[in-house]
Amino acid sequence: ASVFSDIEMGPPIEVFKMVAEFNADPHPEKVNLSVGAYRGNDGKPWVLPVVRTVEAQMASDQTLNHEYLPVAGLPDFRTGACKMILGEEDPAIVQNRVAGVQALGGTGALKVAADFLRQNMKYEYVYVSTPTWENHKSLFTKAGFKVKEHRYWNAKTCSVDLEGMLEDLRTAPPKSVVILHAVAHNPTGTDPTQEQWKQIADVCEEKKLFVLMDCAYQGYTSGDLDKDAWSCRYFSQRGFEFFIAQSFSKNFGLYNERVGNLCVVCKDSDSKSKVLSQMELNVRVVWSNPSNHGARIVATVLNNPPLYAEWRESIKTMANRILFMREQLHQKLKAIGCPGNWDHIVQQQGMFSYTGLNEHQSEQMVKRFHIYMLKSGRISMAGLNSQNLDYVAKAINTVVTE
Ligand code: PMP
Repeated sequence: ASVFSDIEMGPPIEVFKMVAEFNADPHPEKVNLSVGAYRGNDGKPWVLPVVRTVEAQMASDQTLNHEYLPVAGLPDFRTGACKMILGEEDPAIVQNRVAGVQALGGTGALKVAADFLRQNMKYEYVYVSTPTWENHKSLFTKAGFKVKEHRYWNAKTCSVDLEGMLEDLRTAPPKSVVILHAVAHNPTGTDPTQEQWKQIADVCEEKKLFVLMDCAYQGYTSGDLDKDAWSCRYFSQRGFEFFIAQSFSKNFGLYNERVGNLCVVCKDSDSKSKVLSQMELNVRVVWSNPSNHGARIVATVLNNPPLYAEWRESIKTMANRILFMREQLHQKLKAIGCPGNWDHIVQQQGMFSYTGLNEHQSEQMVKRFHIYMLKSGRISMAGLNSQNLDYVAKAINTVVTE
């Protein structure tokens, strides 16, 4: 018998299972609305022109080599990333009390945060929204946290159940962390308003909740990096000590390069140095040193004004195409008389739409129409394009009318 004979088969990871099934599906009209990855109107992945430019420069730059990066990563990348989310004028940036730790994607940044909060700070509980990105729960459970959920989504009104959320957070035991989606909440596409953020911050302050912002979609909501950074900047201006897990997967289209940053905001620069030193020791035993390629691309763009401007235009292109798809899908559903109110399609923001299709209907979309989406009813708007919109709208109409 194998030494592994007691090991059970793990459950599939829904989103990647969908991608594999989509790839294997020979159906000519198949549509992939499952994974959160940008596609152009031609349905293909888009390598941003600015990324190609920098990669070409890097390929011929004889001064570059493959030596290890520092444990905490490329300094220009970390500084650039923290400034990008907090803004150059942020008091914590100006007073030199922010540190960045380069990580393997946004997921890696969450891992650095979870390990530090559990091991070094002895936090015990983590609050996540119902629903949330499914990886939050597993990542924090494996890091030794007990996961608690707070209300977030009001399915009747298709909006944030702020009262429920605040009520749940007010019952948080001491030593609790709360993960807040900085912008473009995954999967609901629905963020708190600025007024609601203030109330959330009040409760975090009152209950001494440690705030971990998860920022995987900066730029995707408004097409503007600064506007999408509002919640993070607000928490910093209020004087919170908190973390921001930043992902560059979506806004740079660097999914497989695994580029992320944990932005650590402290009250003073002495705490900042101490926290950073402990995080380096934690990172040392997980991946020891981060990878170079993607972080160097990002650092080059963030530190070069013309390239930065070009990148910001590409973000607008991506965000606008998604907005256009929202409008088009909304119009088509109304035009064919699909029962129900579909205004949430245009009200929701970021990459995803939480359609309101139930589990059975979502499964029908996959099985009968070869339109791949999550059983929660979440679709990636980036998977829609002018060739498949009609087909998707008709399929939605069929599954909701039957
Ligand atoms: N947080 C959320 C809410 C996400 O949606 C994602 C990406 N799906 C991440 C974090 C992690 O992104 P990355 O691929 O950079 O690890």
